[in-house]
Amino acid sequence: MTDKLDLCTKALSLRKELGQDTTSPIDIFSLAYTIPQLTLVFYPMGDHLSGMCIKNDGNPVIAVNSSMSVGRQRFSMAHELFHLFFDENEHSTVCTMKIGSGNDVEKVADQFASYFLLPPVALSEAIKKRQGSSIDSFGIKEIVKLEQYFRVSRQAMLYRLIEDNKLTPQQADKFRQGVIRSAVNLGYDDTLYKSLPENKQYKTYGYYIQQAEELLEKDLVSTGKYEQLLLTAFRPDLVFGDESKGGELND
Ligand SMILES: [Zn+2]
Repeated sequence: MTDKLDLCTKALSLRKELGQDTTSPIDIFSLAYTIPQLTLVFYPMGDHLSGMCIKNDGNPVIAVNSSMSVGRQRFSMAHELFHLFFDENEHSTVCTMKIGSGNDVEKVADQFASYFLLPPVALSEAIKKRQGSSIDSFGIKEIVKLEQYFRVSRQAMLYRLIEDNKLTPQQADKFRQGVIRSAVNLGYDDTLYKSLPENKQYKTYGYYIQQAEELLEKDLVSTGKYEQLLLTAFRPDLVFGDESKGGELND
């Protein structure tokens, strides 16, 4: 039996530790860059895995399945933060795609991710604000508004509404299909529900890149080795340059 209050406290305390308040929607990937020595890898992992966390003796690596939608990737990142900060048993974990499935730790990590991205107080305030007094009637409009506000995928939003007894699983099933269309028809942008283009699905950020730069600066590796390190990390843009490098003109 999971202690929801304990998980919620963990989620809110990690938000604070990372310099966030306890209610606002967060840019989780920007936040991840502030975690010391964390390397973040985006890699398409197919239809069954959402991500992985390798603790690596204080030089952790979190990998996120970049073929998932942007909203789902954000949830996966929050899930991996649970493994990194609170899962004391495993040194490395590979995580399944379906939210709320897998072993007990996976389920707990999903609940944590949900509280981290949708803090309970913020969610209930957002529901009140958007629904007025008719808390009982959850339609597609309310669901899209909430997922857009908190930047989570439809499946993540429905998972939480079921957890909080706002929807039954049967009611939720009605909203699982036609996700993009339902949001676009209400006037929203669809980036939350789509993955990035294939050529942007392979990337490494964070500590690994800093380390490669440092090795080169200190003459500890040759330029060839440095380039090899970056190419291994899917960063040909740093080796060969690309048109957007610099970026001052359209910043
Ligand atoms: Zn996991």
